[in-house]
Amino acid sequence: MTGYLGTPSFLMSIIEAAEGMRLEPKKDLHLGAAFVGAEMFPESLRQKMEGKLDIPIRQAYGTVDVGCLGYECPEKKGMHISEDVMVEIVDTETGRQLETGATGEIVATNFSKVFPMIRFATGDLSYLIEETCPCGRTSMRLGRILGRTDQVTKVWGIFIHPWQVDDVMAKFPEVANYQIVVTRKEYRDQMIMYIELKEALTDQIGLKRKVEREIEEVLKVKGQVEFVQRGGIPDRAKKIDDRRIWE
Ligand SMILES: [Zn+2]
Repeated sequence: MTGYLGTPSFLMSIIEAAEGMRLEPKKDLHLGAAFVGAEMFPESLRQKMEGKLDIPIRQAYGTVDVGCLGYECPEKKGMHISEDVMVEIVDTETGRQLETGATGEIVATNFSKVFPMIRFATGDLSYLIEETCPCGRTSMRLGRILGRTDQVTKVWGIFIHPWQVDDVMAKFPEVANYQIVVTRKEYRDQMIMYIELKEALTDQIGLKRKVEREIEEVLKVKGQVEFVQRGGIPDRAKKIDDRRIWE
């Protein structure tokens, strides 16, 4: 085996299993390259696995219904869109095309005579990159997959995307885990950000203020930070838990 084609999480499991057997993944797995897809592939995971295997790992994006829509070249600056599909980025509410570079839902049309799909809504969020890639190819590229459309929430009338919250939290290395919970009290939205810390801090109030300021600046919505114990946020909890009841 010299190549891997599959999900990133399964490749990580193979690495961990090899390490558990006291093998050295870099030389004992004999991998020369890996091509991953079908899952979110955060840059931190790529760096970790490339470091452990010392091979290039590139990703593709596609869906079962329309097939492969884009794939990374060696430059890893977005995913080149295949010539035989049409990819649009649209407003999640209106379905209208957005300007190049804006974040919206990926909608794809293939030209298959056997299994045609017209404006298939993937439910995934991304953006288009128009500039020519350093590799020389001139195709449009898909940027990073930013999340699912169904995780977008509106608070005080403003859209909050999980990836925006990720961006805020990436600035605070003290944070181990977090979750935003949106509730409604007397017709007013309330946004609470629950945070688990890696270890207890002497200045938690200071961190609380900094995170609250950053949330307001990036998300344009006021939120309140509350600290919870390690493990207080369930593993598979939604990043943004909308608990508002509309009646
Ligand atoms: Zn390229």
